[in-house]
Amino acid sequence: MVPGEAAPPGPGSPRGSAEGAAAGRKQRAAARRKVRVASEGINGTVGGSKVATSLYIKVMLSQPLFKNILCQEDFKTSAGGAHCFPDLRVGVFKEIVPMGIDPKIVSYKETGIHLSPQEFHREVEQYLSQATQGQSDTILLDCRNFYESKIGHFQGCLAPDIRKFSYFPSYVDENLELFKDKRVLMYCTGGIRCERGSAYLRSKAVCREVYQLKGGIHKYLEEFPDGFYRGKLFVFDDRYAICSNEDIISACRYCGVLWDQYKLCSSQHCRQLVLTCPSCCNKGLTACCPVCQEKELKVASRASGQTLKEECECTRRRPRVPIEHGSPRMLDTGKD
Ligand SMILES: [Zn+2]
Ligand SMILES: [Zn+2]
Ligand SMILES: [Zn+2]
Repeated sequence: MVPGEAAPPGPGSPRGSAEGAAAGRKQRAAARRKVRVASEGINGTVGGSKVATSLYIKVMLSQPLFKNILCQEDFKTSAGGAHCFPDLRVGVFKEIVPMGIDPKIVSYKETGIHLSPQEFHREVEQYLSQATQGQSDTILLDCRNFYESKIGHFQGCLAPDIRKFSYFPSYVDENLELFKDKRVLMYCTGGIRCERGSAYLRSKAVCREVYQLKGGIHKYLEEFPDGFYRGKLFVFDDRYAICSNEDIISACRYCGVLWDQYKLCSSQHCRQLVLTCPSCCNKGLTACCPVCQEKELKVASRASGQTLKEECECTRRRPRVPIEHGSPRMLDTGKD
């Protein structure tokens, strides 16, 4: 069963101590959240004070519905707080994570073999030593989106240039040859996308074996803060990234200086993230690409605020389904 995810405790004074539904109401201001509930399980991130988040975990664990699904170690913690989540969103969905495939067709029950952080670490170590000699039969697959792997990833991974997880199945379909007879070591942020992604990959029956990192990068970093994962861990909230080591593996889009702090593109209708360093920002380079930069100038010079299309260079030059040519590229830098 797919477990629940992340409960980042953060600074803040503890308030309220009631349990159950009342606790939910009382703690709402302190524990804001984003949660997906599906028949496969529950997945989400909440933020609040240490007291609020541990109370949340306690309530979740005591809820009869989740009795055989959740255990303490399914929750991952990181620095943060309620301020990371501007609103409260809880929803019932078909899928625990939006892959776009009916769970009745590809079930989490058909998932890859779970590896603990220690087991995964050993596998990566072995893979890296073989890969440098060009004799590996293994693919280390990062199944997250391109902007996530760009600022942090496992050394030597294959990181698909996909914008959304819902493109992952098409990516697999288009690159089946690549996975043929391979052992695949798969990972994602908290292990949830792998629950579905590995099941999808296995359903193609081309890989020799599919393994996945249980608890994802989150759990790995708890055990190996200075291991084979380098750079930051992207998170889908106002923090954008959390870090366990000081490495910066990505660069400013404009000047190329090492930089890994994302900002939203300054163009009004664009939702792309951009890596632009403070000095480039000061020069007004605040958009994700020249197309957006130009739009911004036009908007600024036009008072009407007319609606502009959301497409920009960044989305156009990144095809829906990237095709890997030949042997998988080894990703060691986060450069675009
Ligand atoms: Zn720069
Ligand atoms: Zn943009
Ligand atoms: Zn752009």
